Amino acid sequence: MRIGILALQGSYFDHQNYFSHLNIETVLVKEPKQLEEIDGLVLPGGESTAMRRLIDRYQFMDKLKEFCNKKPVFGTCAGMILLSKVIVDNPTHIGVLDVRVKRNAFGRQVNSFEETINIEGIGNVEGVYIRAPYIELVGDKVQIIGKHNDSIVAVRQDNILATSFHPELTEDYKIGNYFINMIDKHKKEE
Ligand code: GLN
Repeated sequence: MRIGILALQGSYFDHQNYFSHLNIETVLVKEPKQLEEIDGLVLPGGESTAMRRLIDRYQFMDKLKEFCNKKPVFGTCAGMILLSKVIVDNPTHIGVLDVRVKRNAFGRQVNSFEETINIEGIGNVEGVYIRAPYIELVGDKVQIIGKHNDSIVAVRQDNILATSFHPELTEDYKIGNYFINMIDKHKKEE
């Protein structure tokens, strides 16, 4: 199994490090054609607007949409924003996840925090929230799997997993294992 990590901007090295602890081979995806060589894709945290500019500059969008429509994808923080169909006060990017997301919804950098929440089907999961978004509204096919107080911070829609927080900045590998299982299942069904 090879997991690709979109490596245009943001915390892609942390994801590589995170999955290396799980003995998974990762590929830093810097060119669209690399999407053909991977079984699952991580869209890391960072700055969604900066990532979008680079997605356009390197002509990634069509291939990314195609990938995200059929293969396992995991978006964290800015990655969640990139996937969302509706972004409050911002244009849509990849737009495959049927949710409305609000950027910087927990406040500014000073309001960053670490928190353990219960995720359905996974258990207690530690996460770091850095100028994190939350989801305000979900479509019929979206399963809400985690909340921080009343805010939706983790969702699953078929092949897509998205979290507001960064699991890769912790040593809690449960979310990583969950994503690996999603890929395993998908490979068996292919
Ligand atoms: N605030 C960033 C954005 O809007 C996301 C922050 C993050 O990925 N840690 O894209």
